[in-house]
Amino acid sequence: MKTKSKFNLFGASAAEIKKLLTDLGEPAFREKQIRHWIYVKRVLEIEQMTNLSKSLREKLQDACEVRPPLNYERHLSRDGSIKFVFHLEAGGDVEAVYMPMTKGVTMCLSSQVGCAQACSFCMTAQMGFIRNLTPAEIVGQAFVIAREMELNDPFNIVMMGMGEPLLNLNNLTKSLDHFVDALGLNLSPRRITVSTSGHVRNLLKLGEYPRLPRIAVSLNATTDEQRNHLMPVNLKWNIEALLAACRRLPIPPRERITLEYVLIEGLNDSPADAKRLVRLVANLRCKINLIPFNETPELEYKQPALPVIERFQEILNRSKILNTVRWSKGRDIGAACGQLATPIAKRGPNLRVG
Ligand code: SF4
Repeated sequence: MKTKSKFNLFGASAAEIKKLLTDLGEPAFREKQIRHWIYVKRVLEIEQMTNLSKSLREKLQDACEVRPPLNYERHLSRDGSIKFVFHLEAGGDVEAVYMPMTKGVTMCLSSQVGCAQACSFCMTAQMGFIRNLTPAEIVGQAFVIAREMELNDPFNIVMMGMGEPLLNLNNLTKSLDHFVDALGLNLSPRRITVSTSGHVRNLLKLGEYPRLPRIAVSLNATTDEQRNHLMPVNLKWNIEALLAACRRLPIPPRERITLEYVLIEGLNDSPADAKRLVRLVANLRCKINLIPFNETPELEYKQPALPVIERFQEILNRSKILNTVRWSKGRDIGAACGQLATPIAKRGPNLRVG
C-alpha cells in the first residue's frame, strides 16, 4: 500500500537516488536505469521496471514510490490551449498551461504557490506567497502534461506561471537538471525559458548555471517611477541595476535575452515610452516581447487600443529593435499571462476562477 512517507523517486536527483541505492546495499549505477524508466519510458510502477532484479524491485517498493502530481483537472480553451490545475498533495493548487503553437508545444509552468512579488498587474500577486514548489512538483507539471497529451517530440518550457522562479532558485536549478538531462526530459536548454520579475542577485546566480536556459526579464516600464508602481521589486533593484545585470549574463553568441513588456493603456504605452525603451536597451542583445495587457474584472488596467500598440511597435521597428507582439493564449479560461491564480487565496466576491 502507498504511503506518503515513502521516498519519492520522482523529482529526486541522481545523487539522491544513488544514495538510496547504496543505503539499500545495491549498486549506485542502477540509478540510471531507474531514471530511464521514469522519465524516458514514463513508467510509474516499480514492478514494471523489468530490467531491475526482482529483489531490487521489492526493496524499492518497500522504501519508495514514483509520485508525480497526478491529482489535476483540465480546462480547455477555444484556442486549443489547456490549463491544468494541480491539486498538490503537500497543499495548495498551481496552474500550468499547455499551448500548441505553430512550431510545436510550449508549456507554461509554475514555480511557487502564489507569489510574494506583488506586481500590480498580475492575478497571482493577489494570492500572496504561500510556498515554494519542490522539484517533483515543478518537473511533475511538465511530465504529467507530456504524458497526458502523449507528447513524444521535444517541447518548450517557459517558467512564467505562478511565482517568481528566482525566489525558488535551489529547486528551480534542480528542476533544470531534470529538464536538460538525457535521462530526464532531455530538452535542450534553448527550449527552456526562465522568466523573472527582476531579482538581480539571483539572476546573476542563475547566470552561473552550466547549461543556461533562455532568460526573460519582465521590464514593463521605462521609468523607475512607473516601474515602482507596477513592480515593487524595482524599489530594490531599479531599471538601471536590472539592465546592468542583464548585460553581465553569459548569454551565448547568437542568443538574446527577452524583455517582456506588458502594454497597459495610459500607463506605459506612449510614444515617449517607446523612445525611452529604445534608449534603455541600447547595447543589450535582446528582443522585446510586447504583451497587450490581458484584462480581468478584478484589475483596473486596460489593454491599449490596437493603433496604440502598433504605434509603439513602429517606434521600436524604426530603431531596429527586434520585437514581437505576443497575444496571449487561453484568455477565455483565465490562463493568459498575468491571469493565473487559484481559488485558494482569492479574495473578494468578484474574483474570477479561470
Ligand atoms: S508577474 Fe510574476 S513575479 Fe509578478 S506577482 Fe505575478 S507571478 Fe509574481
